[in-house]
Amino acid sequence: MECLLVGTGGMMPLPERHLNALWVRVGGAGYLVDCGEGTQVAMKQWRTGFRALTALAITHLHGDHVLGIPGVLMCRTHAEATEPLVVLGPVGVRRFIENTIADLRYRVGFPLRFVEIDVDALSRAKEPALVHEDEHVRIFALPLAHGTPCLGYRLEEPPRPGKFNPAAARSAGVPEGPLWGRLQQGETVTTPDGREVRPAEVLGPARRGRSCALVTDTVPTKNVYRLAGDVDVAFLEGMFLERDFDQTDDKAHMTAAKAARIGRDAGARRTVLVHLSPRYTRDDLAALGAEARAENDTAEVGRDGARYEIPLPD
Ligand SMILES: [Zn+2]
Ligand SMILES: [Zn+2]
Repeated sequence: MECLLVGTGGMMPLPERHLNALWVRVGGAGYLVDCGEGTQVAMKQWRTGFRALTALAITHLHGDHVLGIPGVLMCRTHAEATEPLVVLGPVGVRRFIENTIADLRYRVGFPLRFVEIDVDALSRAKEPALVHEDEHVRIFALPLAHGTPCLGYRLEEPPRPGKFNPAAARSAGVPEGPLWGRLQQGETVTTPDGREVRPAEVLGPARRGRSCALVTDTVPTKNVYRLAGDVDVAFLEGMFLERDFDQTDDKAHMTAAKAARIGRDAGARRTVLVHLSPRYTRDDLAALGAEARAENDTAEVGRDGARYEIPLPD
């Protein structure tokens, strides 16, 4: 699993900062969370490609999260992708996209498979709810608190089979060779002397898959902890310095320090702050990072184009 910060800005794109979007690559497939104005330009800059895009997950219908969708659909069409694209998002995402296609009359060269999520209906969920699953990832969602229906996402690889124990295989009478491979693939095999050996007899406990979360545009809520819980990398909005939060009218957000604290308390192995306020210069972002690290020494400020290669655990 590799995560790439396509952009890290909130509210508006800047000449030096693209809007917040996360690209996650698993196996041969790509997943994009959010798609603000200009996201296709940033994807070209970081060379993500468009054909591999398998699912697009939208957090909410604010311009800085959706206005780039027509451009990305056009680029994927231009790349001659014909595989369906799954689109996840709050109810309304389908109408928005279909209206842009109807009004702007652009061609989409592949089927769109919408999975609209009723955010209110999810409000009682205690665990992240599975909203998409394919051979590479499972995508979970929970509602956030932002004044408009908004979802946070968590992407997880399926658990991997446990470690193979050669001594256990030998003592069960399975000779080294193709039968070992089949056991490791989860198949039951028959030994040369006719005994059945199940994978559980020669494999250790299942190992967790890699995971990441993107949680943006919310005040702190329990669901931020649930989404970020125990992930390899939590991308959390950390929009403001403490001193500015008191003064801003836009309070439906988190400060960097608060986001860093949540990442720490949720057990995220690494916390990266995104959806940064457009008011901040490079120096301000250094101060933002310092406030975050005072709470959580794994926290850092996201940077456009930064890649996070998540190694396989054990
Ligand atoms: Zn936003
Ligand atoms: Zn918003």
